[in-house]
Amino acid sequence: MRKLICLVVVSFFLVPVQGQNPVYARKVVDTLCSPWFAGRGYLNGGDLKAAEYIKAQFTEAGLKPFGTSYFQQYGFTVNVFPTDPDIYIDGERLNLGSDFIPEAGCRTIAGTFELVWVDSETIDDPRKYKKFVEDTRFRKSFLVLNNLNRVSEKNLLNKIRSNDFKAAGIMEVVTKLMWSVATRQDMFPSLQIKPGLISQRSKLIKVNIFSQVNTHQTQNVVAFIKGLEKPDSFIVFTAHYDHLGMVGKSVYFPGANDNASGVAMLLDLASYYATHKPKYSLAFIAFSGEEAGLLGSYYFTQYPLFSLKSIRFLINMDLMGTGSKGITAVNATVYPDFFNKLEIANTAGNYLSPLNQRGKAQNSDHYFFSEMGIPCFFFYLMGEYAYYHDPDDRAENLPMEKYSEAFLLIRDFVSEIEIP
Ligand SMILES: [Zn+2]
Repeated sequence: MRKLICLVVVSFFLVPVQGQNPVYARKVVDTLCSPWFAGRGYLNGGDLKAAEYIKAQFTEAGLKPFGTSYFQQYGFTVNVFPTDPDIYIDGERLNLGSDFIPEAGCRTIAGTFELVWVDSETIDDPRKYKKFVEDTRFRKSFLVLNNLNRVSEKNLLNKIRSNDFKAAGIMEVVTKLMWSVATRQDMFPSLQIKPGLISQRSKLIKVNIFSQVNTHQTQNVVAFIKGLEKPDSFIVFTAHYDHLGMVGKSVYFPGANDNASGVAMLLDLASYYATHKPKYSLAFIAFSGEEAGLLGSYYFTQYPLFSLKSIRFLINMDLMGTGSKGITAVNATVYPDFFNKLEIANTAGNYLSPLNQRGKAQNSDHYFFSEMGIPCFFFYLMGEYAYYHDPDDRAENLPMEKYSEAFLLIRDFVSEIEIP
């Protein structure tokens, strides 16, 4: 009880004095991860609902759109599963999302097939491999790939993985189910399954999976605060708000760390700077399409809403929900002078440890800006958080233990950036 009182007192003083608002950030994460937003993807209007929410937050904070709309619209194709994929192993029904999941690019398949076990011995032992190729009725079979990390015959493994033998489908046993977004369908159906649900003795799989490629209209959400002294120079904050959406009608991916956490910080920074007016202009961009291949940020660099030449620095935030194991700055070694400023700010505030530096990486929305020569960092926090691209990346699991420190580090770093 005393602990609780202390917490309340501390946060009461922290909010007005230092600017960041962890209570608001938590609320943003909780909201964006709720079932209404359907994993901010491609079924049930998920990403549009999230875009409307972000737009409302920008409006409420007093940010302005470039032109007449906060939305920059564009589109892409995406493979979706409108109904629940269903599989039975020897009559036993498996649970979607916890026992198995179709690969994001899985194509439609229905029927009953023989299970054929493939492990490292099947591939590395020439006699067993010959028997596997000769005996398998590939068109009537689902291959079960188990524990193939130690296979030495990599060429044969690649042949099987790319389904050269034209099996009906491929199922890989994985310790952790991990989903993604596919903009088109694979050439053959494939699934991931957890260990212990299938064995060498399993005989049959009954499968019913329906998927289709939809054309999806989406939008980046963009707003700005005009600078008091140098309005034609911009510092830009970015975070992607899309996640993986849903598979079927029942399983959704909340994407708490990836990247409701980054959106929370983006919106918190927006409301902070709305009341602490900067000398130069600040733009805030919530991108869609990141999980589908950095599509929103790519589109923005092709059709910018303000001159890219006016960007003095860009800060991309993705995976901001932890921090007990420090923070990483991608592009740190590309921009050592900026990294030096970051280190000074971090040391002065005693914010995050360690502060890691990385070189270039094509792993989030800073990438296409970076390739155009725009100075930028991509920040992500590190901690003891096991959930990534799975249904357990939920708001209630997200620690956000160094949220305030990360916010203050970014704020202090930004104040050190000199605008010529
Ligand atoms: Zn992400």
